Amino acid sequence: MIRLPLATESAPRQGPLLDTFGRVHNNLRISVTDRCNLRCTYCMPENVTFMNKRELLTFEEIARFVEIVAPLGIDKIRLTGGEPLLRRDLPRLVEMICRVPGIKDIGLTTNGITLAESARALFDAGLRRINVSLDALDPDRFRELARRDGVERVIAGILAAKKAGFEPVKINAVAIRGVSEFEVVPLARFAREHGLEVRFIEYMPIGADQWEREKVYFAHEILDQLETHVGSLVPAADQDPRAPAQDFDYTDGGGRVGIIASISRPFCLSCNRVRLTAEGKLRNCLFALNEIDLKPLLRNAGPPEEIAALVRQNIWEKWEGHEINTARFVKPDRTMHAIGG
Ligand code: SAM
Ligand code: SF4
Repeated sequence: MIRLPLATESAPRQGPLLDTFGRVHNNLRISVTDRCNLRCTYCMPENVTFMNKRELLTFEEIARFVEIVAPLGIDKIRLTGGEPLLRRDLPRLVEMICRVPGIKDIGLTTNGITLAESARALFDAGLRRINVSLDALDPDRFRELARRDGVERVIAGILAAKKAGFEPVKINAVAIRGVSEFEVVPLARFAREHGLEVRFIEYMPIGADQWEREKVYFAHEILDQLETHVGSLVPAADQDPRAPAQDFDYTDGGGRVGIIASISRPFCLSCNRVRLTAEGKLRNCLFALNEIDLKPLLRNAGPPEEIAALVRQNIWEKWEGHEINTARFVKPDRTMHAIGG
């Protein structure tokens, strides 16, 4: 019988990046900036004091971190933000990360506003996976959610990404009752028409706005709308059990749709993720209340073994899950744009 060590013990010094629930971590999300050219209501406040640029990890510091954690079992990276394409010369970071031995998969999540200008350079740098966030095709609703215009630019970015060779291009859409709920069917049709994969995300309490459970447009409601108005669906046969999205295929062969049911079907018990914020804080959960500051060590050539030990311990101490569905839930101080989505 395998005995899992007790939470009170220290993290193992070798082997995979385990926590005390037996979850193995191989997936790192790196935020490269907290800045953004949109102001999505569910993500960030309108007026915000951004981090001082000198506080952000340099590309060299980020790549050093990746070199330290790859031998620990991190093989999957996603760059995010804030809006990652606001970070100048991002393709250079993609190239640097692609060169790290052991990294098998690198992805990017972007709002797509400036993607048309950089899709080709990102692809040429080695990026292969791209998720573009788009909650509404209707320009007024887009503005209502993003507090800025830009739907045409996002669509141009999506089409440019397809043209550059990204396959699939995934669309992320946050489903909010009474707001983006009306966009579910248009987005699903748009995705089918253009050979894209749309993933609807249940609205989470991680922004600056007043989250209420009643505003969550739930997975089963989304699926009902899709089956009634777009096409019948079956669970995907090749579903990755550790992926947050549950995938469904249209029975007519017209593509795939995903649902990220963070509220109605939390996937905490299969979580394999850890996050590095733009200024070098390590967070073992999106909703973590504690984080550890790795920047001093990364910036001042701290010993790799010391950094690796801190990563192991942080992951080891990960809690069971976010508890959004209980009275114990505590919203983190940072809002999504400053954590890295
Ligand atoms: N700016 C980029 C973008 O929008 O894709 C990357 C960062 S954004 C924080 C990453 C993802 O988090 C986006 O798909 C966004 O829709 C999602 N997100 C932000 N706040 C959310 C919330 N309260 N609930 C669910 N998803 C959220
Ligand atoms: Fe910016 Fe992305 Fe947050 Fe929207 S979801 S405000 S695009 S970081």
